[in-house]
Amino acid sequence: MANKTPITVAHGDGIGPEIMDATLHIIEAAGAQIEPETIEVGEKVYLRGITTGVEPGAWESLRRTKVFLKAPITTPQGGGYKSLNVTTRVTFGLYANVRPSVAYDPFIATKHPKMNVVIVRENEEDTYTGIEYRQTHDMMESLKLISRPGSERIVRYAFEYARSNNRKKVTCFVKDNIMKQTDGLFHKVFDEIAKEYPDIENESWIVDIGAAKLADTPEAFDVIVMPNLYGDILSDVAAQIAGSVGLAGSANIGEQCAMFEAIHGSAPRRAGQNLANPSGLLMGAVLMLVHIGQPEVATRVHNAWLRTIEDGIHTYDIYKEGVSKQKVGTKEFAEAVIARVGQEPQQLTPVKYSSTPKVPDSREIKEHAAQEKKELVGVDVYIDWNKGNFNELGEQFKTISVDGLKLQLISNRGARVWPNGMAETFTTDHWRCRFLSDGVITHAQITALLNRVTEKGFDFIKIENLYNFDGQPGFSSVSGA
Ligand code: NAD
Repeated sequence: MANKTPITVAHGDGIGPEIMDATLHIIEAAGAQIEPETIEVGEKVYLRGITTGVEPGAWESLRRTKVFLKAPITTPQGGGYKSLNVTTRVTFGLYANVRPSVAYDPFIATKHPKMNVVIVRENEEDTYTGIEYRQTHDMMESLKLISRPGSERIVRYAFEYARSNNRKKVTCFVKDNIMKQTDGLFHKVFDEIAKEYPDIENESWIVDIGAAKLADTPEAFDVIVMPNLYGDILSDVAAQIAGSVGLAGSANIGEQCAMFEAIHGSAPRRAGQNLANPSGLLMGAVLMLVHIGQPEVATRVHNAWLRTIEDGIHTYDIYKEGVSKQKVGTKEFAEAVIARVGQEPQQLTPVKYSSTPKVPDSREIKEHAAQEKKELVGVDVYIDWNKGNFNELGEQFKTISVDGLKLQLISNRGARVWPNGMAETFTTDHWRCRFLSDGVITHAQITALLNRVTEKGFDFIKIENLYNFDGQPGFSSVSGA
């Protein structure tokens, strides 16, 4: 017998323990070679005063096994609790969130019978780093961070996933007509990496019209890769319109560790009644089996499950008079799947898993970091100011230049207000004063400039250095300029 793979298992809260028992029972009956180690996470741990929801000792198990099968948990009401998913994702660098959304027409009601989409969401960057500031009375700031290595590995993961799952196309969703630097980089990296996969079709959409198309005609898409925020929103939209929120599983993949779960929550009102549908967690476990190198078992489990759905054996949440044949509880559903291990669906398309996608190593990515020439050419100085008309601000700032570093313009919320501002432009107390030089400047010049700014009585709230990379500006131009 093959060696068993240790996995860390959390039974979670609400319906969690029931659907976890059913899931483990099914995959072990189908021949999964696993050795589960149980840890406690969730509500009870939170209520013991541990804000992460995970006992410190439980991390040891995760570090050892590097594979986490997690049932849903209940986050207690009230503040002060950290999201277990976010903590796990950040601690273990789980950079890829993979979410298949599939319709099972005509057995489960759906508006999109042919839908079969996998969303690959970048999981660590974008506005989700949580770096936020209050800078003035009026203004909050959230930093959107998109890196080249972060984009490279998520895009490469999407193409590798497509290739190993026999999918034909990878689509990129971005908003680079507006966010030319951040989303522009993601798009550029997508175009570069797509060239390495000539066997897979590729295309890019602006996320607004792409999202509309996804909601209207999801069968037009296969694998879609996107930055964190769009992926968070659209993976829920995709699961909902497939008609299968309760049936969808999800994988969070990192270089070292991976976490697998259902996308639904702990459904506390259904707990302890043998009612819950274990399918979402089971689909998470199928993704796990592929990940730990047991694709044949994953194939057997998934096909037996498809056959069960097709045979009309349904839990209450998907039961429909006239379509379903038998309403069953959690345990009976699990037994029905086990009885079909070795069978394939006859109307739905059978699955066949092969290898797990190769996860690119970040060291490989860092090694070929570009050798660009980086030159400091200016600085944006942000000011908290609420004392009058923007022309007055411009007149005062004009006098602050240092050694060729001259005020070029002032903007408010991205709109240019000086020189030649228009009285109609709405302004807040948050101003950006851009100083540019004809040539390369030093940090000392910036420090001298800032001293002049404070001497004149202004409150500068932050600066952003302006660099050229190989002569190309690494900063956005200003609208109206
Ligand atoms: P939920 O997903 O638990 O429930 C939404 C609805 O779907 C309910 O009507 C529920 O009965 C039904 N449902 C969900 N899963 C089902 C299943 N497997 N079988 C049958 N019916 C099912 O969402 P919620 O009610 O908003 O959240 C409940 C709790 O779950 C909250 O404490 C929330 O914080 C937590 N939650 C946890 C996770 C997670 O651990 N990954 C994810 C989402 C929500």
